Amino acid sequence: MSTSDVDEEIEFVNKDLKIQVKCPICHSQMLEDVYQTGCCGKLACHTCDSRLKKDGSNCFNCREQYKSHPDKNARGLIQDLKMHCPNAKKGCKWIGEVRDRKNHIKKGERDGDKVCKFEVIECCYGCKRKDTRKNMDKHEPDCPEKPYKCQYCKETIKQKDEESHMKSEVPKHLECAFDKFTQEIQSQKKEIVNMKLEMQASESTRLVTELQNQELNKDVFQVNRTRTFPSNHSSPERSKSHESSKDSWRNSLGNIVGWILMD
Ligand SMILES: [Zn+2]
Ligand SMILES: [Zn+2]
Ligand SMILES: [Zn+2]
Ligand SMILES: [Zn+2]
Ligand SMILES: [Zn+2]
Repeated sequence: MSTSDVDEEIEFVNKDLKIQVKCPICHSQMLEDVYQTGCCGKLACHTCDSRLKKDGSNCFNCREQYKSHPDKNARGLIQDLKMHCPNAKKGCKWIGEVRDRKNHIKKGERDGDKVCKFEVIECCYGCKRKDTRKNMDKHEPDCPEKPYKCQYCKETIKQKDEESHMKSEVPKHLECAFDKFTQEIQSQKKEIVNMKLEMQASESTRLVTELQNQELNKDVFQVNRTRTFPSNHSSPERSKSHESSKDSWRNSLGNIVGWILMD
């Protein structure tokens, strides 16, 4: 049994206890390990049992040589008992079994699920303030010792030093702001170049498709004309127009390639 367990005086919901809870030697409540004497069957707390064994003492009840064993049955019965929260006077309404009290109180810990909001703890930022968890929830976000990252230079400083930091680090903050500005300009420049490349790619695809369609239309037109006016010799007009459309194709393609390469 730890010292803190000895100190806390539990208030049970049912005042009429059917089991012995107090140690007959030190009168503290036996909430964890319970020992039974081998000589006369009396119960003792863990602290007293250890001391009697270590000292080689006689039994506190029958004066025989002290011998004992853990009494799991008695321990189980005590742990089943319903109790009020030790912080009931501060306002906690929790009622639970003795075995669950540590999970509810979580001594010394900052938080956890369903913990007692009326347990006194120390501020987690080391300002030495002690208060209930309930009040600490309000204090800690504004604690002068709470560290935070300066939005300009990204240095970690304490909240209490914010004003002096802002005053003394003006040149550094200006430098950081300038660096940030330069970075933004560079990333925007990159975006513009990417957009231009995308536009060039889609425009060249569009032009190629258009030219291919034009070529196809001309071929269809020529085929139709040959079919409508059949002749034994090949039409000079047709071959001429075919040549000129091939030339315009080449010229357009040359223009596109030149346009893409130009940057
Ligand atoms: Zn004791
Ligand atoms: Zn005895
Ligand atoms: Zn509580
Ligand atoms: Zn604090
Ligand atoms: Zn700063």
